[in-house]
Amino acid sequence: MNPFDLRGRAALVTGGNGGIGLGMAKGLAQAGAAVAIAGRDEKKNAQALKELKAFDVQVISLAVDVRQESSCKSMVTQAADKLGRLDILVNNAGMNIRKPPQDLSLEDWNTVMETNLTSAFICSQAAYPHLKKSGHGKIINTGSMMSIFGGAYLAPYAASKAGIVQLTKALAAAWAKDNIQVNAVLPGWIDTELTRRARVELQGLNERVLSRTPAGRWGEAADLAGIAVFLASPASDFITGTGIPVDGGYSSLG
Ligand code: NDP
Repeated sequence: MNPFDLRGRAALVTGGNGGIGLGMAKGLAQAGAAVAIAGRDEKKNAQALKELKAFDVQVISLAVDVRQESSCKSMVTQAADKLGRLDILVNNAGMNIRKPPQDLSLEDWNTVMETNLTSAFICSQAAYPHLKKSGHGKIINTGSMMSIFGGAYLAPYAASKAGIVQLTKALAAAWAKDNIQVNAVLPGWIDTELTRRARVELQGLNERVLSRTPAGRWGEAADLAGIAVFLASPASDFITGTGIPVDGGYSSLG
């Protein structure tokens, strides 16, 4: 048996229409899983779906705003209905509002927390009956280096991503009895739309990332495919509640 084989399994990836989420979705599809990707932007959904059709598996896209509880619930129901089952949930949708703490409004704070953290709780709760029924459920949450480190312009982002790590541990402890493994991935600096915006907003970011990352390069979305397959597959059946950096060594430096 190939422990990384995902044939016969179905995955739902929030924020799967671009960047890290699409990198993970491609890995899962390549390993044989049927995949639903979800995001707000219909154009990005359609483009991502086109790219995923290169793999010989069922792929669908769903419109979702993960800040809305009803939208999350309907996304999970639709994914399970259309794919016939749900074995893997990737809580990856996320965003950032870069401001010093004294300039953040409560609305800024709530927007980041709801998008990055509350959504992972809502989607996991909605997916739970399906994952339990599958008999081998997997949840993968996208954290960040800011799950570990701080940053002057990152208060809600860092709080949300640290929260992702603790939510991961809590869900792992609660649902181990149902044979559901819950883990987090902590990406380093990955070249995506999110960080391309950061590069414009933060002067010298590119140079700092290159000199601070031992691998000496930005990560690519494709660098997240392998960890997604690992954490979604039987290869990781005795791993739960952990956060795994995929960071070119960034977090190994003091
Ligand atoms: P992108 O901006 O490329 O992707 C963000 C994704 O989240 C998009 O698919 C977007 O889709 C979706 N999204 C955002 N808000 C919502 C919402 N309200 N409802 C539904 N979907 C939403 O950035 P990345 O790929 O870089 O980010 C993906 C995850 O990785 C995030 O959680 C981010 O915090 C995390 N991360 C990124 C790092 C990096 O260096 N790039 C480093 C560490 C963590 P749409 O706009 O269509 O809704």
